[in-house]
Amino acid sequence: MAREFRFGDWRKNLNSFRLDANAPGVVATIYFKKPQTISQWLDANDRTVVATLTGVFVSQDPETTTWDQQWPDHIRSGPLGSVVNIYLPTSSAATLAECHDLLAAHSIALETLQSELELEVVVQPYSLFATHRDSPGLAVFDMDSTLIQQEVIDELARAIGRYDEVAAITEAAMRGEAPYTDFEASLRARVALLKGVPISIWEDMKRDVITLTPGARELVKVLRARGWKTAVLSGGFTPLATWVAAELGLDYAFANHLVEDPESKTLKGELVEGKLIVHAQKKLDLLRQLAGDNDIPIERTIAVGDGSNDLLMLGAAGLGVAFNAKSKVQKAAPTKLNGDSLLDIAYLIGCTRRDIDAALAGP
Ligand SMILES: [Mg+2]
Repeated sequence: MAREFRFGDWRKNLNSFRLDANAPGVVATIYFKKPQTISQWLDANDRTVVATLTGVFVSQDPETTTWDQQWPDHIRSGPLGSVVNIYLPTSSAATLAECHDLLAAHSIALETLQSELELEVVVQPYSLFATHRDSPGLAVFDMDSTLIQQEVIDELARAIGRYDEVAAITEAAMRGEAPYTDFEASLRARVALLKGVPISIWEDMKRDVITLTPGARELVKVLRARGWKTAVLSGGFTPLATWVAAELGLDYAFANHLVEDPESKTLKGELVEGKLIVHAQKKLDLLRQLAGDNDIPIERTIAVGDGSNDLLMLGAAGLGVAFNAKSKVQKAAPTKLNGDSLLDIAYLIGCTRRDIDAALAGP
């Protein structure tokens, strides 16, 4: 039997979170959506959260798994509420995939907990958390509905009154209907509908339409201050991906290239031949290539995205986070996080509130 928690002890252990990186255990990062003081929340809910998580992880081997809890130095206010990291020792090390599978097997209990207490829980191996906390790595991001709040191709289509046609192709592709069974075919079909769009549309969109996701600027600033390399890997288009990269200070931008007609200053409705096409496999390839180019082991990478074409890179990165993702993607991705600010991701790589404040106060 797993032994009882000593709930009275945790307050003594506020500074004991720096453990041996090889210590077997998991870190649960808990985001509270309801404003309240941390001590109010802990008094009311710590038993519920810890008991549920214990139920998840103990169930794999109730005879031998032993548990304890330590409350970390991470107790603090987050950007939009409060965040706590809980360290839960396990008898043997769990991989991120094992964490995912255990949580999935208890998804009803967890979803109930999260909705009733208005919180989000992300669980990962402690070794991974410690790696990202202690060593800078590579962070790659999807663009549409991840770094920015729009789907660019939809906005382009809307601007020329062809939204319904583009959306129909997108939906057919999502259902896997011929001839849109692969991303490239559906991309080319949608791009063809953009023939004649004036290229001034990019400036219009930057000025009037595109909004950065809250916390995107801050997260990238924190990552850069900690020495991370950053990239946007977008199934959208280069004029906006390179602009987003410049706005945020990303190191790399990859996206699809559209042919422009210099005479009429309009889009030709075609992709530039010979240029890369950024689909799901290409996002994965680029993640590996950028990691290799920077001598960063794949474990020290994180990937953030919301769409099914992000799943390969999310699965291959050290930590893949489905952020405000489609429900299918939330289920399939290694971890998921729903929230109002991308800066919440910083807590998953071991940043404290103090780290974040220091990074944001810097140049
Ligand atoms: Mg997206």
